[in-house]
Amino acid sequence: MSFELPELPWSEDALHPHISAKTMSFHYGKHHAAYVSKLNDAVKGSPLAERTLEQIMKETAGDTAKTGIFNNAAQAWNHTFFWKSMKPGGGGEPTGELKDKIAQSFGSVEKLKEEFANKAATLFGSGWTWLIEKDGKLEIVQTIGAANPMTEGKKPLLTLDVWEHAYYLDYQNRRPDFIKVFFDHLVNWDFAAQNLS
Ligand code: FE
Repeated sequence: MSFELPELPWSEDALHPHISAKTMSFHYGKHHAAYVSKLNDAVKGSPLAERTLEQIMKETAGDTAKTGIFNNAAQAWNHTFFWKSMKPGGGGEPTGELKDKIAQSFGSVEKLKEEFANKAATLFGSGWTWLIEKDGKLEIVQTIGAANPMTEGKKPLLTLDVWEHAYYLDYQNRRPDFIKVFFDHLVNWDFAAQNLS
């Protein structure tokens, strides 16, 4: 069995002009694809080749002998989750149970966006910003490199990739502009709502 690059939930040019087809062709077609193929090379012939990405991530997290396997498995998972965290014509406001949980955990959607944007903008170097659920409460967490909050028992609801490869062609060094566009035009609150436990 080998891992495959999942299809995008929309076409490469669907998020234009917020994320260009050129960015997508590199980010999905080169970076995401490379994580999948490097993972396949790394686990070939080992019992890990028969596991799911989630199982590999949980089994290899924190194991310094398996850092490369963890990083490629987590980056493969994280990117698939990131594509689903966005949609053409996204943005707007969460509704229903998600909205209620956001109000309970942050006070308001505006407060969530503020904290998320601040954490995404100040994350030093490459990493991810996540909306997660733990014990029924929502939180914003930053992870460095490929790390994923799942390995700490937190349930991802939504993520934003803040590696430079996610925005550099379109926004150069202006990461805060990319974060604002994510909330104004791209975020898929329905996906986050589906991920609630
Ligand atoms: Fe990325």
